Formats: sequence, structure tokens, C-alpha cells
Amino acid sequence: MTQLATDVDFVLSNGKTIPALGLGTVPPEDPHELKEQVITAVKAGYRHIDTAWYYGTEEYIGQALKQLFEEGIVKREDLFITTKVWPSFWRNPEKSLDKSLADLGLDYVDLFLQHWPVVLHGDENGLPPQPRDKDGKLIYDDDPVSGIKYIDAYHSLEDIMDNTSKVKSIGVSNYSIPKLRKLLAAVRKHKPVVNQIEYHPLLPQQDLVKYCYDNGVHISAYSPVGSNGAPVLKLQLINELASKYDVSVNEIANAYHILQGRSVLPRSSNLERIKSIIRLPNLTTEELNALYQIGVESPTRYINDEWGYGLGFKWWKGDTLSKDFD
Ligand code: NDP
Repeated sequence: MTQLATDVDFVLSNGKTIPALGLGTVPPEDPHELKEQVITAVKAGYRHIDTAWYYGTEEYIGQALKQLFEEGIVKREDLFITTKVWPSFWRNPEKSLDKSLADLGLDYVDLFLQHWPVVLHGDENGLPPQPRDKDGKLIYDDDPVSGIKYIDAYHSLEDIMDNTSKVKSIGVSNYSIPKLRKLLAAVRKHKPVVNQIEYHPLLPQQDLVKYCYDNGVHISAYSPVGSNGAPVLKLQLINELASKYDVSVNEIANAYHILQGRSVLPRSSNLERIKSIIRLPNLTTEELNALYQIGVESPTRYINDEWGYGLGFKWWKGDTLSKDFD
């Protein structure tokens, strides 16, 4: 019988566990739909929800959690909830966390991530999330390439770990090797347990993954099918493997990560899809290697936001700043 992805957990460097399959919650056109998506996912066996202050979906997730707890479907301790602090809120991550907790209706999250290793010029409430000058350029509080204030922001996450019971673990997202190297050298007490990055067969990033594993940082893969339009699912090999193992293409895309020790965060506004993508086909090492090889020659990144400029990621479209890292 095929194993279920919902039965797999990974152990983080601090000894806590993270469920392998997490539900992504970037908002659909109507964010109210998130409530039903979360209820559907948890009833189907998901125990991991990935959200962020920036997504604006936490109140709907909170409504779903309230209903799930009231109906006795799960208890709080059965779930693993991640939220994130956005760069414009970098001066006060605890305030961002408090807002997230209030909307989620929780008194702690399992994982609190620094969303990006940059600092943007927001007010005390993190607004606006994308501060821009009259020419439309992002306003930073520090140089995105050489600045180190993003490390101060991480230290504030460490303070939350030390001084409150509002988070079980802390980590990072969208960290390249240069940014992570600087951070790890400056960590006071709590190393990041996770780096959440875009990762799929069209964007292998094996050097970053190896660096994270060597340093005990678990990888969570976002945009596992390449985000809107799901370009990864059009790959011939993914379709062949789905036929061979009699599973969906999404389950192959998820298995690519889970079988190699990475948690994965698919998103869907299709409730049938959410429910049905939980099997874990037992791909062979050769098949996993073949999936990996697809993107090696010409990798493609689908999340190319402007605040990613200067972070030292290769293949970031439009980034003219990262050359300084070479
Ligand atoms: P995914 O790679 O999960 O792609 C989701 C899209 O693919 C949806 O539009 C979905 O459509 C479509 N799709 C999925 N399966 C199929 C299929 N079989 N046929 C057709 N279309 C399909 O996208 P995300 O970029 O949202 O990444 C997932 C999660 O990762 C996010 O929700 C978020 O939680 C996290 N993330 C984190 C980031 C960070 O900076 N830390 C950045 C980006 C994402 P449909 O709704 O119709 O199923």
C-alpha cells in the first residue's frame, strides 16, 4: 500500500518535529476561501499550515482552527503552524507575531520565520509592506547587498524565544548561502532550524540545500509546482512517474521533496485537490536523481520579487545587485 505523506515527520536541529506536508496559504482571489481550505486539509490529515502576516489570510485560518478545535477534529498540540515576519516589520517582530497570534486565535506558533533577509522602511505596524519612493523604487532601511540589519531582525526573533512562550522554534526564509553564512556567524543562541525557499525540479539549488544540511538547517520547499500555472506539472518525467505509480502529478512533485528529507508546502484553492494529494509514491533513487537533473542546465525561478534583489541568488530575474557577491 502507498505510504501517506501526512504520516511523515522530520526532526529539526532543536529536537522538535515538523510534518512533511504543509498547506500553503498565499491568498486566493477571495481570501475567505482559506477557511474551507484549512478545514479540508486538516480533515484529510494535514497537520502543518504555512502562513505569514504578509498574506493577510491569518484571520480566515483562525476561523478554521476555531471550528476544528470546537468540533474536536484536532487539538492545538496536534498541529504545526508557521507564520513569518515581513521585512517592513523588522524593527518589531514581536508586534507582528502578536498580530498573527491574535488573528490565528493562538497563544503560540510552532515556527516563526524571518520572511526575507532584508529590511524595508515600514512604520511601527509594518506598513506599508512595500514602501516605495516617487520613482517606484523600494525604500530599504539598509543596503540589501552589504547591510547587516537583517541580522538584528533575527536577533529579535531570538529574544522572543528567550523571553516569551509565543514560539516553539525560529527560522528563516529566502536565505541564500552568503546571507546564511553571515547570519550563522552572528547567531547568539538559537540557530535557525528551517530555511524556507523556492524549490522544485526546475530550480534544484543543490549548493544551497547542501549548505543548509551541513549546518543542520531543514529545508521547506515553497512553490513546489512553480506557483500559478503549475509549470512543473507539465514536465514529461513528472507525468510518466505519475502514470507509473498511479498517483497524481502533484504527489510526484511533493514526493520529490519528502523522500529527500524536505518538507513541502503545496497550495490549492481546489478542495478536491487538497484532499487527494496526500499519497507518497516510493520513487527510486534513480528517479529522484532524474528529477533533480531536469533543472540543472537552465534553472527557472518563478518567485522573482524585487525584494529578492541583492540576496545573492542566481537566476533571480531583473536582479542587477547580486553580482557584488561574485
Ligand atoms: P504552488 O507551487 O503550490 O502552486 C499553486 C498553484 O498551482 C495554484 O494556482 C494551483 O491552482 C496550481 N495547481 C496546483 N496543482 C495543479 C494542477 N494539478 N493543475 C493545475 N493547476 C494546479 O504555489 P505557491 O507559490 O503558492 O507556494 C505554495 C506555498 O508556499 C504558499 O502558499 C506559501 O504558503 C509558501 N510560499 C512562501 C514564500 C516565501 O517567501 N517564504 C513564497 C511563496 C510561497 P489551484 O488553486 O486551481 O489548485
